[in-house]
Amino acid sequence: MQLTEHFTLDEFTRSPIANRLKIDNSVPDELMANVQLTAAKLELVRAALGKPIIITSGYRCAELNKRVGGVSTSAHTKGLAVDIRCDYGTPKQICQRLIDAGVQFDKLIQEHNQWVHIGFSSSNNRQIVLTAIKQGGKTVYVNGLV
Ligand SMILES: [Zn+2]
Repeated sequence: MQLTEHFTLDEFTRSPIANRLKIDNSVPDELMANVQLTAAKLELVRAALGKPIIITSGYRCAELNKRVGGVSTSAHTKGLAVDIRCDYGTPKQICQRLIDAGVQFDKLIQEHNQWVHIGFSSSNNRQIVLTAIKQGGKTVYVNGLV
């Protein structure tokens, strides 16, 4: 199912881990509006980067989210966040570009120099920018881009 010009529902739900564990990760009807909103916002992200975006993790049902170690309040479980890669540049360069381009988001996280987490809100996009780093084996979030 095509959500917007460049994004399909399948890109939001596919998960090798869900497949392997036989978890049904389909989006429930009541969250479809959120996924639609996220896809619409991602079109603006794509436009700012000028390159296709690969969604490495989109919607996560509660069970999948638990299996991948996500926090229970994760915006992924509401269909309002995605993890992305893009050959625009490093995760930090991608984040910087989105900030410079004035893209609206609720939370933007440069994750371990490996991927970018971006979350949206339908009402109040707070423009929070964080960097996830490992400290003593634990992930900690520091303010801004480092
Ligand atoms: Zn994420």
